[in-house]
Amino acid sequence: MTSLPLWFDPARVFIGGTWRAPLGGDTLAVVDPSTGAEIARIARGTQADIAAAVDAAEAALSGAWGAMTAAERGRILFRLGDLVLQNADALATLEAMDVGKPLRQAQNDVMALARYCEFYGGAADKLTGDTIPFQQGFTVYTLREPHGVTGHIVPWNYPMQIIGRSIGAALATGNACVLKPAEEACLTALAFADLAAQAGLPSGALNVVPGLGAEAGAALTAEPRVRHLSFTGSVATGKRVQVAAADNIVPVTLELGGKSPQLVFADADLDKALPFLVNAGIQNAGQTCSAGSRILVHRDIHDDLADRLSDAISALKIAPAMDNADVGPLVSARQKAIVDGFLAMATPDQILAQAPLPGGLPKGGNYIAPTLLGHLTPDHPLAQDEIFGPVQVLIPFDDEDDAIRIANGTRYGLVASVWSADGGRQMRLAKRLQAGQVFLNNYGAAGGVELPFGGVGHSGHGREKGFEALYAFTTLKTVAAHHG
Ligand code: NDP
Repeated sequence: MTSLPLWFDPARVFIGGTWRAPLGGDTLAVVDPSTGAEIARIARGTQADIAAAVDAAEAALSGAWGAMTAAERGRILFRLGDLVLQNADALATLEAMDVGKPLRQAQNDVMALARYCEFYGGAADKLTGDTIPFQQGFTVYTLREPHGVTGHIVPWNYPMQIIGRSIGAALATGNACVLKPAEEACLTALAFADLAAQAGLPSGALNVVPGLGAEAGAALTAEPRVRHLSFTGSVATGKRVQVAAADNIVPVTLELGGKSPQLVFADADLDKALPFLVNAGIQNAGQTCSAGSRILVHRDIHDDLADRLSDAISALKIAPAMDNADVGPLVSARQKAIVDGFLAMATPDQILAQAPLPGGLPKGGNYIAPTLLGHLTPDHPLAQDEIFGPVQVLIPFDDEDDAIRIANGTRYGLVASVWSADGGRQMRLAKRLQAGQVFLNNYGAAGGVELPFGGVGHSGHGREKGFEALYAFTTLKTVAAHHG
């Protein structure tokens, strides 16, 4: 059995460049989702630790970190990206054992984390203001300045990727960060903080306080000295974060998941589409904000596609994370109970296909059989609500208008895809789909560190990733000089 490759003590918080016990003195169990066994303890940070982390961040801003040039910040991010790559095996193992994702997926996430460091390292000194033509006797220009202390609340499904996109952009623009990882997924956040220190990031520029959402998370959102909040997670918690942000009048970026549609037309190349259609539903056991969980298909090819999807899903292999199968366990018993609850709503005739769970899976693991559902109306809760498990629904449509009506007919709008050989249709639908990203004859563009990402409706607001995130992590100052 693989042991956790820990080179730091995970039962500590990382504040002001040093590791120390949480002020409350308590720890929380780290449970391996593949087996149910406790494999480590993490700190249970509380409000006092958050306050200390904000103190450290403020000190960094008025000290070495605040004095750095953009190029120097970029260089540190490049070094950090290198260190991530040098420690790729350890990071991938930590992530796979902590959250249950197949090792291959965790390795992809390490690469994405390194890419975020490189992308934002390169972007740090490319963000510029404008000069604005104005009245005679004036010179007017804009400055993009960091908010100051930024708060980052990260979920458990893609910890490294979400830390990369959020912390990378915030550090590139000169903010000092306080990160509250999810209680189910703290190990790579702590490892990342240690690597950042090794890369030369000044003390206090990145602080990590593990703990419970209702304690450390809520304390971070309530802290008036935090001048920007970025949150990825559920709609319910996102609303709480936005309310807390409103109390302090701070901007907030919310990424809240979705029920993303994949539209398959009769002229689509089904051989090409099939692996994307399935992977978009089962990647990370479906615990993906941008999961393509609704497959909408033209009625003429419904039965053909149902057969192909059923064959592909029935052939999926499920195993513990380190065995590197197609699908691993869900992150927690709690998440498994949520998904089981959704599946219990399906009648037997609505289950079109289900991958068999192999005998011999560890008893304490949170395994769910990947499932394809059908014969339900677009307004059925199984076709409306985010399930966050390896469950997809197949829904027929009659024409483009019908496809758009169904695709846009949820409260979400994160991602959508169109599978069709007709270029005109692709362009028409790309405009009409309510989503932050639309993929034409692909899904997810292999992660796309460079591509702005975020949603509409209950999928949230604000954009992360790409250059766009740099705007979110800065505030614009206009300087008007009158010189006659
Ligand atoms: P949450 O939204 O509750 O958790 C996301 C993050 O918010 C975690 O770091 C959590 O900490 C923190 N948090 C929880 N409560 C508060 C609070 N009051 N103030 C500040 N931060 C808080 O999601 P869950 O883990 O409960 O998952 C439930 C559902 O949310 C899933 O089934 C899925 O539908 C959705 N989800 C969507 C994600 C996405 O990528 N969009 C990611 C994860 C979940 P802690 O975990 O320590 O409580």
